[in-house]
Amino acid sequence: MIRLTIANHDLLERIETVAADWFTRARLLTGQNERAGAHVTATPIWSEVRAVLARLQRGKCAYCERKLGSSGDEVTIDHFRPKGKIAAWKGRAADVGGASRTGYFLLAYDPRNYLAACRRCNNKWKGSRFPTARSRRLDTAEADLLAEELPYLVSPADPEDIDPERLIGWDGPMPIPADPAGRDRALVTIDVLGLAHEDLVKERQLVLRNVWLAHQNAQGEKPDVLAKAMLDDWCSPASAHSACARRFRELCDENPAAARRHVEVAMQSASV
Ligand SMILES: [Zn+2]
Repeated sequence: MIRLTIANHDLLERIETVAADWFTRARLLTGQNERAGAHVTATPIWSEVRAVLARLQRGKCAYCERKLGSSGDEVTIDHFRPKGKIAAWKGRAADVGGASRTGYFLLAYDPRNYLAACRRCNNKWKGSRFPTARSRRLDTAEADLLAEELPYLVSPADPEDIDPERLIGWDGPMPIPADPAGRDRALVTIDVLGLAHEDLVKERQLVLRNVWLAHQNAQGEKPDVLAKAMLDDWCSPASAHSACARRFRELCDENPAAARRHVEVAMQSASV
């Protein structure tokens, strides 16, 4: 997952730059939802801020870290807290919030609830699921009150939430809990978003092979300057799957034999 750090006022300014009356329309639509007690407006003005978010996210899906637009994926806006109905989630931890017919209707036009995501993550995996460890707060748009729900999904854009990289670690190309204290949140996030699915693992294996090669060439008595630059590029936040790449680069330094085994497995899997 990515980490999106932008101050609220900065985000608002960027949105107003591309759509000057966006917040006026958002307030009107939110008022309609509030009076109805549900998401009843069929006006997807969130699509107007898609390019703003995609740029802030360095062109990457907030969840799977694929480059948006790759693999034929159209860029979508995901409502982190689902705006309409919510599907119950059955998994390794209890979804206390459960299903809802209304969803977070007060957040349908709140840009703080938006993330640019690929169709794979938004539609195929996450969908309308949003498991919580405590009862839902569908009656508020206040961040402090919403936090009381204790969502299992880590938020890439909430400055009060943990950095996803401190919650989700890596065993080669496989996402794993980074810290025992956040084990449930990490495992639920991985499950709900399908982050351990074969499609992503294969892409990450390709990245690991490239990181390994660049790391090898950047070592020794005559390190290749270009290899070092390539290594930095693979691990840059702008590159696909860079959280995994950064951890693997550390492993190449700490335990080259273990890193090599991951590359051998990646080679075998590529030849199947
Ligand atoms: Zn994605």
